[in-house]
Amino acid sequence: MSRHTEFAVRQSIVDAARSMNGLGINHGTSGNVSVRWGDGLLITPSGLPYEQMSADDVVFVEMDGSFDHPLVPSSEWRIHRDILERRPDVNAVVHAHPIHCTAFAMCRQDIPAVHYMIAAAGGPTIRCSGYATFGTPELSELALEALEGRACCLLANHGMIATGPGLSKALWLAVELETLCRQYAVALQIGTPHVLSDDEIARNVEKFRSYGPRPKV
Ligand code: 13P
Ligand code: ZN
Repeated sequence: MSRHTEFAVRQSIVDAARSMNGLGINHGTSGNVSVRWGDGLLITPSGLPYEQMSADDVVFVEMDGSFDHPLVPSSEWRIHRDILERRPDVNAVVHAHPIHCTAFAMCRQDIPAVHYMIAAAGGPTIRCSGYATFGTPELSELALEALEGRACCLLANHGMIATGPGLSKALWLAVELETLCRQYAVALQIGTPHVLSDDEIARNVEKFRSYGPRPKV
């Protein structure tokens, strides 16, 4: 893969990381972004403010966790590596601490099917993982469990993870998840949100497979 292409991927990671605060899904240096690359992954460095980050600061990490870079990779590199290793359908991972996702994660609540958009996550619930200290292998195991059959999940007392076949889809899903959590939080203040049936969500998951701009037939 050419240096030019690798630079474009590195830049797309920096752009995605920078856009998280403007999109309202993150704050400060929280969160991290990765993309599958060759035999490993490209991932944001740990603790570097996004506005100071350049494409060369993005760290290439081998699947065994080794890296050769002046900056250390995100403390959550294990979650990113483990997801990319065990989920061949995933090529990009976004982790952030959005307010409404994190509020439900603080309460350790799953998100039920209170809006059909939950189908974008792949099923009738968005699970909240168990709690483990950030950056630990235990947290990675819990995240993978919560992601079973889903493209996103909440992390107890921490934040959320969204995945996708590419970075733009993972970032889109991260914004959709925060929007859903925000809508659900408001609905809970108004009354008792109605939960859609598993059958209805299965229909929507199917519809999502062909959703998006496409030529008229
Ligand atoms: P990093 O800056 O190391 O990526 O950590 C941020 C974070 O969100 C940890 O969970
Ligand atoms: Zn985090």
